[in-house]
Amino acid sequence: MKDLIDGYQKFLLRADRSRYADLCGGQKPHTLVIGCSDSRIIPEEIFTAGPGELFVLRNVGNLCCTDDPSVASAIEYAVGHLGVSRAVILSHGDCGAVKAACHPEHLFERGIRSWLEKECYSGASLEEAIKSWGIRQLERLEVFPVVKEAVEKGKLETSLLYFDLGTLRLDRYDGADWIVVL
Ligand SMILES: [Zn+2]
Repeated sequence: MKDLIDGYQKFLLRADRSRYADLCGGQKPHTLVIGCSDSRIIPEEIFTAGPGELFVLRNVGNLCCTDDPSVASAIEYAVGHLGVSRAVILSHGDCGAVKAACHPEHLFERGIRSWLEKECYSGASLEEAIKSWGIRQLERLEVFPVVKEAVEKGKLETSLLYFDLGTLRLDRYDGADWIVVL
């Protein structure tokens, strides 16, 4: 616990107190990010975003299951109530969830197995498999009624990004190909 408290003390020294005070009245994030729980993938750090800017849902494998209440509530709240203008699926290099799906026979724990059993590993390389995985999540995101409606009204843009952990390269899926952003 000590390392967490020490970290909190450092946070207090650099925290923008007036920004936090302003946020007490509510939030108006511009982007919903659906990312992986992986400790190496921190959306706020990657996109240099402060408190109140990103509405983030993180789960194992950045899944966008249409039948999961946690996923559905985050999407409905961010898009329908907070009115974010972007919804982003953030995939990443060396994703353990995708690697695990390559060897489902090794998934012994009930929770992980039931979470990942509907997913599949498809691709000639891990990067290809992670990117295909991301495309499937984007397709699922786009069938949520609240997302569909906001996109049709021109109020929401959906996208899929791939963050390459080793090189810090960011790729974007344009609906057909992957484009290097930076
Ligand atoms: Zn991951």
